[in-house]
Amino acid sequence: MPELDKKSEYIIQVALPVPLRKVFDYLKPANGQQPVPGCRVRVPFGNRKLVGLVVAVKNHSTLAREKLKTIIQVLDQGPLIEPAQLKFLQWAANYYHHPLGEAIDAALPTLLRQGQAAEVAGVSEWSLTSLGLEVDVASLARAPKQKDCFLQLRQVSGQVLTREQLQEFNPNWQVAIKGLISKGLVEKRERKPALIESQEVIAGPALNAEQENAIKEVESAGQGFSRHLLHGITGSGKTEVYLRLIQNVVDSGQQVLVLVPEIGLTPQLIDRFRSRLRATIGLFHSGLNDRERLNVWLGAKDSDSQYQYQVVLGTRSSIFVPMATLGLIIIDEEHDASFKQHEGFRYHARDLAIVRARDADVPIVMGSATPSLESLFHVYQNHYKLLSLSARTGEAVLPGIEVLDLKLTGQHSGLSPQMVLAMDQVVKKGEQVIVFLNRRGYSPVYMCHECGWLAPCQRCDAQLVFHKNSARLRCHHCATEQRLPDVCPQCSSKELHPLGEGTERLQEEIQKQLGSEVRIKRLDRDSTRRKGSFEKFYKKILNNEVDIIVGTQMLAKGHDFPNVTLVVIVNVDQALYSLDFRSSEHLMQQTMQVSGRAGRGKKAGIVLLQTYHPEHAVFAALKHHDYREFAKCELLLREQAGFPPYACLALLRAESVGRSKALEFLTQVRSAGLKYIESATNKGDVVINHVVPAPMEKRAGRYRAQLLVSAKTKKALHQILKPWIAEIDEMKNRQVRWSIDIDPVDLY
Ligand code: ADP
Ligand code: ZN
Ligand code: ZN
Repeated sequence: MPELDKKSEYIIQVALPVPLRKVFDYLKPANGQQPVPGCRVRVPFGNRKLVGLVVAVKNHSTLAREKLKTIIQVLDQGPLIEPAQLKFLQWAANYYHHPLGEAIDAALPTLLRQGQAAEVAGVSEWSLTSLGLEVDVASLARAPKQKDCFLQLRQVSGQVLTREQLQEFNPNWQVAIKGLISKGLVEKRERKPALIESQEVIAGPALNAEQENAIKEVESAGQGFSRHLLHGITGSGKTEVYLRLIQNVVDSGQQVLVLVPEIGLTPQLIDRFRSRLRATIGLFHSGLNDRERLNVWLGAKDSDSQYQYQVVLGTRSSIFVPMATLGLIIIDEEHDASFKQHEGFRYHARDLAIVRARDADVPIVMGSATPSLESLFHVYQNHYKLLSLSARTGEAVLPGIEVLDLKLTGQHSGLSPQMVLAMDQVVKKGEQVIVFLNRRGYSPVYMCHECGWLAPCQRCDAQLVFHKNSARLRCHHCATEQRLPDVCPQCSSKELHPLGEGTERLQEEIQKQLGSEVRIKRLDRDSTRRKGSFEKFYKKILNNEVDIIVGTQMLAKGHDFPNVTLVVIVNVDQALYSLDFRSSEHLMQQTMQVSGRAGRGKKAGIVLLQTYHPEHAVFAALKHHDYREFAKCELLLREQAGFPPYACLALLRAESVGRSKALEFLTQVRSAGLKYIESATNKGDVVINHVVPAPMEKRAGRYRAQLLVSAKTKKALHQILKPWIAEIDEMKNRQVRWSIDIDPVDLY
């Protein structure tokens, strides 16, 4: 028998961040270094050099040895990604039919992707020198940019600023800082990553019976894999339940991963975690810089690290943060659509969290006031345990909900007189109002009153939105932006007017009707673009410096504004006309969540909703705060229509510059797919629908088409997809871009 020496293990299989559903064979580096699975390597690829991850080491390749290239450099001594984590990523790539290398890439912090060392390091910051603390600002009079920058440093507490903060003040900060350093006024230093551990922990309230019970249920299920859905109405104390569960797991020496929606990670929530938990907490979200993210990633992964994080609190991508001793996963607002990645590697963080909990053999708790129908379905199937919190804590009670019929009330610029009156009364009492309208800008349409011309986006099948503050027309689907035309491009008339209402106009209108002394703030993506502005808003609202908050769905998340006693829901009717099978569910969730902002303090709250369709079932359920009743009816409809959770969907999307190319491509894809159904063991279980143009066919200059595949079981779906996708990969069509979305959330 030939001796198996080290030389025989010379083929290194590497996953690379390229859009190809395969891994690549390389030879181990000339210096004899032996890479192990899970470590990063730098390799030649075409005429580029890429960082990839070793997934296997073998002794044969299907390629001839001369054809194989050699690894340039081994970047990690041991596995950066442990076998269990690698297995999880392989599972995810396989399930979403996404290239493994790209999936791994999505799971790695940017600096690791770039090939930097997997070591905790300080964060750069700039501070005043002792000279800088004393010097007279007037001496910088001739260098205004430096002076500005210098003043910023003097004014912030601690007199230190990070790269991001400097960037926010002035995009050209680097030049100014350089000048200040050369004058000896400023110095750069590296701040060691600090473990944020709260020194004094505040005790929480005594729990009520339902909360106690929820905790007992989770803990008595044991330390192994178990799934729980915590359905608690808004303000019922779900977070309190999480906090106790987390503390107990941390006290037993294990780590906890907590996922929250993008907009849910508010300063309020972070403060609450910090002030309540005896634990080191690492935040992981897109607002951090690359270095900070890497530090948390490494600190969570390594149980020996002096930077060990016991709790990782983050958004969607935290699902990939490796944890040395994971003991519990919590998903807050589990119904939230931001857990689904909408481009590239289209994973769903909640769904992956379940897989991760199963792999790690730990409990997972998913919580929401408005659980997804999928999760409730799993409860009814006895897959998840249901934990209920049915009452608001303390003195707070659920708000009364009144639905106004716009056909009877009439409206002026989108507001019925009843709403205006109600707002006026609340403001006069010194309480606060939330006005919800899920549409940014001044008006969604800009129209010529002579000829009916509507300002269109040239690149999308959509109208341009008029933004009055910036005097521009903007497309909300692509980046297109243009100045307001002086005259109608079609008939040269000057009669150009806004049509319909967005948040800007609503703000203006309320101001007009209630008077200039009323303090109104707008909370949407336009008004919170600057980093930190959301936090400032928050403080203003909590300090009662605002009477009325006009905002989009940013307001729908779990904020707690105790002085808000009236919530006004202006226009949700569009959702009633939507063809998307999830639109009722989303409408119900959104309106319930927004309504839940009212009456969270000691004062009772009320919700006013105006609609042209007061008879709609969603509103009846809303009035009774009966989400589960709504869910039952909606599930019945889904079952009849064969939609999830009674079916598994995959959506193939294609787009091209010419109108017909994408449609033609998918038609070809479809006929290829049909033969796999023919040969499948359970033929009737999969349906490939017809190719159709996307609901908004043209977007950002490309025409889009889609093909929906529906199956009775996941197994049947994936059985067909695997060979089918391999075949599509072979259909060379340079003019078409295509993608596959497993369990799509949006069907467009
Ligand atoms: P949810 O996460 O369900 O919206 P929270 O956990 O944020 O609810 O609780 C809402 C408010 O009630 C918070 O201010 C919280 O401190 C308080 N709270 C929670 N549980 C209790 C309790 N058992 N007794 C009194 N107050 C409580
Ligand atoms: Zn015109
Ligand atoms: Zn556009």
